[in-house]
Amino acid sequence: MENYEQEKMMCDCEEEHYLQTQKIIVGKNAEEKLIDSLCFGKHNKILIVADNDYAFLGNILQKVKMQHKEINKVIINEKAKICIAETLQDYGQELVVAVGGEELVSICKYYSFSLGCQLIVVAFDNFIDITFSKFARLFDGVLFNIYVTECPIEIYVFEQKTDFVNLQTYYITGKYISLFDDIVAEMVFKKTICQRMKNFLKQTLSNYVNKKPQTKIQKWRTNTWVLIRLGQAMSFYNQTRGFCGGDYQLASLMQSQCVSADFLELYTIALKLNVNSYTSFFDNYTFGREVNVNKHIDAVSKLLKISPTEALRRIDGASLIIDNKEITKVANNYIPYIKTVLKKCLNKIFFVTSTINHPVNVLKKYKFDAYRVQKSFALTPCLFASPTTLHLIAGFGFMDKLLNE
Ligand SMILES: [Zn+2]
Repeated sequence: MENYEQEKMMCDCEEEHYLQTQKIIVGKNAEEKLIDSLCFGKHNKILIVADNDYAFLGNILQKVKMQHKEINKVIINEKAKICIAETLQDYGQELVVAVGGEELVSICKYYSFSLGCQLIVVAFDNFIDITFSKFARLFDGVLFNIYVTECPIEIYVFEQKTDFVNLQTYYITGKYISLFDDIVAEMVFKKTICQRMKNFLKQTLSNYVNKKPQTKIQKWRTNTWVLIRLGQAMSFYNQTRGFCGGDYQLASLMQSQCVSADFLELYTIALKLNVNSYTSFFDNYTFGREVNVNKHIDAVSKLLKISPTEALRRIDGASLIIDNKEITKVANNYIPYIKTVLKKCLNKIFFVTSTINHPVNVLKKYKFDAYRVQKSFALTPCLFASPTTLHLIAGFGFMDKLLNE
């Protein structure tokens, strides 16, 4: 995995694709390799930022100091807020080592990028694909946004028993929605999608489904490598768009209302809700062409506590809620196709079985009642510039059905 930096590839999609990550180590010897890299690497001033005072950090600090290098440690047990990244002190470091879950890693990416330091990611427990990419997901006071930041030069994942394996499995299977969104983006919204990226995503997911790991540790290993591959692909293709479906946007909006909630848990609800909304294609539901913009405005202004004028300003960017004959025509031709693709997708999405009804428990835990969840759903299509399948569904009147039930 050496020297990706030099290999910039000019693609048919007119983008230049390349990767800056030079080393990825997963499993039992990851700790040892990390110590080697810090001790004998080019950086002399190192800052470790961790979300917990892990026992192995003491060992790392001791060994690095023996090489007469300057190394500091900071513990931050905070949610992924942009203000945390902005107020973190500058220790004059050349390298930041982020040790922890997705939230901590996102904070470190933003911090490293702001100060022009290089970054090593050591992922623990609660990580997703974005964790391994150059993108950070941070809360700015209104919404969770994705920022282009520092790409990790090295990635380490220590072997671990984690409670997040099942949630990560949900997360990865939900990526089928991304595949579907790509098709919608191309056909309905006439967006150019990189063919290489589409093939990569398809291939990665079909390999994943065929793997069928048996033990918990096998599941952990399979999930971890898939998440790393997807994260690296985000950096390589310079976008999250092809990897995040409408489910992701919905999860982000729910998180904006409940910042302390675990995003992987919220993601599971979002995924189920999104899939449920897709099933409206299977019922003999009258396909409405009119959109009730007033309902959107009402939901947006109440939920975000902004004026209807401000809500309108934000909605303005969502092209689908504006009547567009061309889109209506394309979408009508598209319905039979949607049905076949969805049937295939839905079969795959819920191949994970669980004895507990996880989404219900999570909804209770974060005090999300049906009304709040529906409102989140109502908001989703209004606030994002990149259209997804959710926009298609909402834009053609399914939102009314959802809000009235
Ligand atoms: Zn391309």
